[in-house]
Amino acid sequence: MRLTVVGCSGSLPGPASAASCYLLEADGSGADGEPRTWRVLLDLGSGALGPLQQFVDPMSVDAVLLSHLHADHCLDLCGLYVMLKHSPVGPWPRPRVPVWGPAGTAARLAGAYDLPVDPGMSAELDVQTWTDGESVRIGPFAVTPMRVNHPVEAYGLRIEHDRSVLAYTGDTDSCDSLKPLCHNANMVLADAAFVDGRDEADGIHLSGRRAAQAVLDAEGVQHLVLTHLPPWNDPDVCVAQARELWDGPLDVAAPGRTFDL
Ligand SMILES: [Zn+2]
Ligand SMILES: [Zn+2]
Repeated sequence: MRLTVVGCSGSLPGPASAASCYLLEADGSGADGEPRTWRVLLDLGSGALGPLQQFVDPMSVDAVLLSHLHADHCLDLCGLYVMLKHSPVGPWPRPRVPVWGPAGTAARLAGAYDLPVDPGMSAELDVQTWTDGESVRIGPFAVTPMRVNHPVEAYGLRIEHDRSVLAYTGDTDSCDSLKPLCHNANMVLADAAFVDGRDEADGIHLSGRRAAQAVLDAEGVQHLVLTHLPPWNDPDVCVAQARELWDGPLDVAAPGRTFDL
């Protein structure tokens, strides 16, 4: 599978990046048995719908997988809703786009666009609710949501395709579920918004060092990619703090960057 970073700025869009959105693509087969490429989005945060159009027609994505309902992870579904509802480009009738998220996702999105909860966006989006630890299959992807440690209901997503594993932490502080989430992952895409020594609050975000500790504890991780750095962070500091513990392959997410795994 191939991951493309669409947006990776933490908590809000920055001057060079939208907020969280990652495009994940893999080959599989369609309902007719013919080979085709499947595309899912991990989060669709503020500002991300713009740059997403550089990579793919947003109306062609097979599903949107939300880690949680903070604005920087879900708000550009408002724009996708407008595209699906009003774009003159076919095909018609347009299939509803599946959206997986925490409890309350449909009402959250309706409220974000100032729509009545019923029908909300239900003609355009097929909203489904995660159950902690319960895998769902989307084309060739097996996706397992695991509840993580953030002030709202939030999930890390473990995505398996063939023998490859991507673990996306979403927003989280250290917690026990990071172990099964990240175990033997080819790549861990980890929240690293906090800076040790500056941000001491518990239960919100990992730092570079906390992310490194999490992947070491999980065992078998091949590659750590730090993400969700807010615009006021220095990436070099984040990398240095991760390097205090982790000497394996290490990168910082940047818009347009792709990772094959
Ligand atoms: Zn966030
Ligand atoms: Zn958050």
